[in-house]
Amino acid sequence: RLYNEVQELKGNIRVYCRIRPFLQGQNKKQTSIEYTGENGELVVANPLKQGKDTYRLFKFNKVFGPESTQEEVFLDTRPMIRSILDGYNVCIFAYGQTGSGKTYTMSGPSITSEEDRGVNYRALNDLFHLTQSRQNSVMYEVGVQMVEIYNEQVRDLLSQDVPDASMHSVRSTEDVLELMNIGLMNRTVGATTLNEKSSRSHSVLPVHVRGVDVKTESVLRGSLHLVDLAGSERVGRSEVTGERLKEAQHINKSLSALGDVIFALAHKNPHVPYRNSKLTQVLQNSLGGQAKTLMFVQINPDEDSYAETVSTLKFAERVS
Ligand code: ADP
Ligand code: MG
Repeated sequence: RLYNEVQELKGNIRVYCRIRPFLQGQNKKQTSIEYTGENGELVVANPLKQGKDTYRLFKFNKVFGPESTQEEVFLDTRPMIRSILDGYNVCIFAYGQTGSGKTYTMSGPSITSEEDRGVNYRALNDLFHLTQSRQNSVMYEVGVQMVEIYNEQVRDLLSQDVPDASMHSVRSTEDVLELMNIGLMNRTVGATTLNEKSSRSHSVLPVHVRGVDVKTESVLRGSLHLVDLAGSERVGRSEVTGERLKEAQHINKSLSALGDVIFALAHKNPHVPYRNSKLTQVLQNSLGGQAKTLMFVQINPDEDSYAETVSTLKFAERVS
């Protein structure tokens, strides 16, 4: 079989692939990306093979090439944000190996520059604008949490010593940015090497919206979960021991549990295995039911990443 065809995506689950650009010092000629199509096709080439076995075709709702901007990426995310106010639970994930651009897509490389801002900021900004534009007919309350899941333990990044993740009422995007900065500081405290720790944990930003209709007093609830997942790279069993092995096993477990849940939802299986990891437990109420899920599948363009790229694309293929 020349190509590995992927079935059309179902229901309320969308999968976008984003290819990060080459970084400074990388040789652009050594790429594993053979072709990207307007309709979400992506062909990757195995640098170690020749002839027809070289290529594999994957299909997504959309593929964003290395030149795509933060704004372009968000344009296709926008309709989902609107549906939160209609009572949907929206989950947006970034999945991929460490260094593939997950944090770039979700948070952006900086929040000071407007064009750099990622999905998190843009989504919340849209959400507040939408609630304000409807404020004559619906009164909205927005609450934000911020947690990190590390080694199957949930940690609140916004306050200490509370059993459950603390909820913070916010009125504007600026309020949220302030909280994000606090969360970011708490996330890095104690981490010996900043990048290491953050790539070994899932960061989850839950946003809860409650709207009360001014006339009828009926209540509508929606939510948004913005998730920057731990790096999906496989760590060779022989290479690691102790703490690193434990981390790798926990990440492995939670990412495959997430895959299983989305697979079950996409195939409308009667049993959805939410209980298998902390990550899927935390997200249980926002995946499935009145829910919309978007996954950004992040990949590196270089040949050296080929094996990880294919493993990432296979994960996406299974959940889509
Ligand atoms: P991850 O969170 O998956 O580990 P990062 O988001 O930290 O990866 O990205 C790794 C590096 O690549 C960072 O230096 C980041 O700025 C850069 N990068 C990622 N995506 C892009 C992009 N679309 N455009 C420019 N630089 C990018
Ligand atoms: Mg990151």
